[in-house]
Amino acid sequence: MSDPLRVFVNERAVDVPRGAAVRDAVRRHDRALADLLEAGAARVTDAMGRAVDAADPIRESGAVFRVVVSARRGPAPLSKAVLRRWPKVELHVHLDGCLRPVTMLELARAQGVRLPADTPEGLADALSTRNAHSLEEYLQTYQYTLSVMQTPEALERIAYEFVLDAAAENIRYVEVRYSPLLHRPALTLTQAIDAPLRGIERATVETGTRAGLIVCAIRTLPPETSLDLAHAAADYRSAGVVAFDLAGAEAGHPARDHAAAFRHAAAHGLACTCHAGEAEGAQSIDEALHVCGAGRIGHGTRLGEDPELLAEVVERAIPLEMCLTSNVHTHAVARVEAHPFRRYLEQGVRVSLNTDGRLMDGITLTDEYHLAHTALGVTPDQLKQSLLNACDATFLPEADKVALAERVKAELEDLA
Ligand SMILES: [Zn+2]
Repeated sequence: MSDPLRVFVNERAVDVPRGAAVRDAVRRHDRALADLLEAGAARVTDAMGRAVDAADPIRESGAVFRVVVSARRGPAPLSKAVLRRWPKVELHVHLDGCLRPVTMLELARAQGVRLPADTPEGLADALSTRNAHSLEEYLQTYQYTLSVMQTPEALERIAYEFVLDAAAENIRYVEVRYSPLLHRPALTLTQAIDAPLRGIERATVETGTRAGLIVCAIRTLPPETSLDLAHAAADYRSAGVVAFDLAGAEAGHPARDHAAAFRHAAAHGLACTCHAGEAEGAQSIDEALHVCGAGRIGHGTRLGEDPELLAEVVERAIPLEMCLTSNVHTHAVARVEAHPFRRYLEQGVRVSLNTDGRLMDGITLTDEYHLAHTALGVTPDQLKQSLLNACDATFLPEADKVALAERVKAELEDLA
């Protein structure tokens, strides 16, 4: 495991130890160039010309970096270090997509579960979805995380660590989702909801970062199962569960089949969101909004295919929980530069940035802010707008929502 990684900086091979950052490789290549980089007078890109943050860890041998000395055109892009300090809010992230690899290995050992690798790096690599071919293939990796999440203790710990990790990158409030249905038969629905709530509560006391739980029905499971979940979730309406969602393979599994579950959730005061417009087109978003009554849309990437629906989404201020890297991995978009996030933002859609699955997508929320900024040209003011969109789109009670937005604005001003 201690073999160095061989990467290329401006076409010259450089060996760096595992765990090294891009800036370390540049320094080994050329000290003067590294000094320019630190002074903001040079930038790094990957082989495709996409911006790379100098603090990024080097993940694999063979990576290609180019250091370009810039004749300062406009301000330097915001670095990840700066964006990490920003207060942030996240609306769309799957608990079972965010385990710490070290924790997974410990749980697997204690539970006698077999995983596809036995080191943290190997596991992160084995679960990476960067080479997935479809949403279905992307979703298959979740079987491994779920395999170690079948006890109340494991679920509690994973939720606890998730909030700690979110707090560490200055997320002030997060709505985290998972499906209690995927913890049966080992756990009852009640056990599978109580356990993460305990973990969240413990972490909130320690960090001040708050979290709401969203429970997901699954498109490929029978509609009666979704209704069972809506019944169970409604009992937790004022005890930490903030919303009901529908997730899973979208193509060929229409949301309308689960309309009764959405109706039950809404009738019992739960907010509703729905994954849609990711693997299927605008019709799927239409159904989530008009048949299932969703108040927010998970992804909504393909909304632009139906200009009339887009106009309605703007008019009704329906929030889209967008996930850039995940959409590349599931092939909802061909490459990140083709992602409609910025276009929708400029068209007045209430879009926000989210991670979807941090372990599977190999990202943090900070990375997604940086990606939107550097790959899509989203300006700092537009990033702030999408952050305030996220505050406004939370499923918090109105007064808490206003307080969250005020806090985020004040913290951003303090950083300026
Ligand atoms: Zn999702």
